[in-house]
Amino acid sequence: ARNALFQSQKLEAVGQLTGGVAHDFNNLLMAIHGNLDLLTQRDDLPDRARPLVANALSGVRRGVALVQRMLAFARRQQLHLAPVLLPDLVHGMADLVRTSLGPSVLVEASFPLSLPPVMADANQLELCLLNLAVNARDAMPDGGTLTISARAESVQDGRALGIGPGQYVRLSLADTGEGMDEATLSRATEPFFTTKGVGKGTGLGLSMVHGIVQQCGGALRLSSTRPGGTTVDIWLPVAGALGLGADAPPAIAPSTHY
Ligand code: ADP
Repeated sequence: ARNALFQSQKLEAVGQLTGGVAHDFNNLLMAIHGNLDLLTQRDDLPDRARPLVANALSGVRRGVALVQRMLAFARRQQLHLAPVLLPDLVHGMADLVRTSLGPSVLVEASFPLSLPPVMADANQLELCLLNLAVNARDAMPDGGTLTISARAESVQDGRALGIGPGQYVRLSLADTGEGMDEATLSRATEPFFTTKGVGKGTGLGLSMVHGIVQQCGGALRLSSTRPGGTTVDIWLPVAGALGLGADAPPAIAPSTHY
């Protein structure tokens, strides 16, 4: 067990390192990309230099794709899956969520009385909720309401969501904020995609949430209207849904590493 713990800590460190390097590298590539882009727009650029600049640009694009793959790898940290009661988890972080949202946002949480536990990593799920709360706050600078709800859902055909059929709990966070336009909505879960400007957003929040939810065997869906607001739906598999009364679920996710 100690060895397993050591292994998972080592992998976590590698993951963090990869993520950090990928982030810095991405920023460098973006600077190079920006400069090359400016070069191609200049009419005093000699024609014979154009293919060279185009070449350099395509190299930078390949670099960006590589960084994205590094990030995807870095996110594949070992999760500790165990049954989690979402109402308890949300309730347990009420103070943190409140603080993240600030005084002008109202929080309404409501759950059905008998909600089955989900299989998830509680710590990672808390991180997800905090990220989503911060996004909700940023979308409601003049205040509003964040509604947190959940319900059990039997998914027959989850292909559009990328999940198999089965029992899930659908957790929803709906804000009354500014919403997203089509272009933002389609790119929101991309790593480093942010509309918040330099120094404000990292563009890593939703991509992290997406990665964690997927690793738990769940799905994430964003929907948005302007005006109206944004709803984040997260499906998580019900704990023990495959074979009720079977052995206790493993404490550690079956290998998520290559
Ligand atoms: P960041 O918050 O650092 O920008 P995210 O990955 O969390 O990174 O979000 C990416 C982008 O998606 C945000 O910059 C914003 O444009 C949009 N977004 C995320 N959540 C919301 C929300 N609740 N309402 C409106 N837009 C949102």
